[in-house]
Amino acid sequence: MARFDLILAGGRVLDPANAMDGVADIGIKSGKIEAVAPELDPFDTEKTVDVTGKWVMPGQIDTHAHVAGLSRNWDPAIGYGMLARAGTTTVLDMGGTGPSLIDGIKRKGAGLNVAGLFAMIPGSTIPGRDPTTEQLPDIVALALQQGCIGVKMLGGYHPFTPEITAEIIRACNNQMAYIAFHLGTKESGSHLNGLREIPGLVGKGRLHVCHVNSYCRGVIEAADDECDEALDILENMRGQLNSEAYHAVQNGTSGSCDKDGNVLANVPQNCLRMRGYPTTRDGMRQAILDGYASVVGQKGGQIMYMRGREALDIFEKLNTQVGMSFPVNLPSSAFKLATSKNTKGEFIVDAVSTDGGSHPRNVAIQSTMALVQFGALTRLELACKLSLTPARMLGLHDKGHFSEGADADITVLDPALNEPVMSFVAGEPIMIGGQVVGTGGRLMVTPQGEATARDSGLPYQVLDLSQSKLYAGY
Ligand SMILES: [Zn+2]
Repeated sequence: MARFDLILAGGRVLDPANAMDGVADIGIKSGKIEAVAPELDPFDTEKTVDVTGKWVMPGQIDTHAHVAGLSRNWDPAIGYGMLARAGTTTVLDMGGTGPSLIDGIKRKGAGLNVAGLFAMIPGSTIPGRDPTTEQLPDIVALALQQGCIGVKMLGGYHPFTPEITAEIIRACNNQMAYIAFHLGTKESGSHLNGLREIPGLVGKGRLHVCHVNSYCRGVIEAADDECDEALDILENMRGQLNSEAYHAVQNGTSGSCDKDGNVLANVPQNCLRMRGYPTTRDGMRQAILDGYASVVGQKGGQIMYMRGREALDIFEKLNTQVGMSFPVNLPSSAFKLATSKNTKGEFIVDAVSTDGGSHPRNVAIQSTMALVQFGALTRLELACKLSLTPARMLGLHDKGHFSEGADADITVLDPALNEPVMSFVAGEPIMIGGQVVGTGGRLMVTPQGEATARDSGLPYQVLDLSQSKLYAGY
């Protein structure tokens, strides 16, 4: 029997955990890394794929994407294929429910590993308005039981009071549930003021701060100063926070207006104000016609940004209940947040994410490769930002590196094209040359969700979040 099932031969292997940046062969056996060496025996393998001239990194882990959400004008599960095409092998979904997650993987999974968070939406996923302190432990327990690994608070859309927000963080911490927060309480907003509340809300606890770039759009202070302050807040809480930033200029938000014609959520209100539009249905109409606002829509199997008349028609037809996008993220903030380090040379923002999935902006790999070409990051730092640190954030100690026995999750990048060209999960290809070949997916759960995972019939993996960066605090 051959020693290897597969050899990826002749690529430039990027493995920051093992300080390796050089040309080597990678040998895979039974879904695991069997050997990495300058030359492996080409006669001792079932199959060889020549990756000469390519960069070979541990599979990209996207710590912020959307594949299980609730949407009326597109099917979020399409996002699995979009992520696989973009080179992702493992994704942290930022908010649906256990059932929507499992349903999506079964229908449209693309072979990825998937961990999901339970979105706390009053009147939808949780009963009533603000939950009470007494209800919170049960809500968290239910989220885990459903097969989510924790909870997502959507402060930019469904903010709670600061008191309840702090209680939710505490309830999650008590059950060692993952807890991610799109910032903003009823007393702040989805901007720098939301970040300023974090030390008080978290106390000595733990929290994943979502998409730091979105609080550095220049809404409260000059954007550059907002970045400096954001970096200070994150650095002062080192060991307590997970964080990521995405690089796309387009954001993702909602068009919802109330019956009086006022835009409901804080994020789209901010976007309209930034260009002087009224925060009303009419303001939104005008922003769409002017080409500033686009509507996220599905055409056939594709999700895309619709503009102009076509976008307005969908907005009216669905009575404002549409996903929307504005070009409000600043590349200068993305650059600064991606590259800034503390005095010890450690990155302050942990990871580059996409906030994509079913939003058509899965550009994390391309944008980070561009930072390498630009000289702002090294190749090994790229692999840290896109794989090694994300693996640690989630406690996935068999991912993010190519040590012997590690999971054979691999993303192959083409530096000439500046894009991912191939990826593997557990040694099996899920994307080849931009074509998705993976199906289904592996559900990641906590021990509390194991029964649900087993009943779902999906392959699954039980995570130990006590070993994650979030809770182990390294
Ligand atoms: Zn998001």
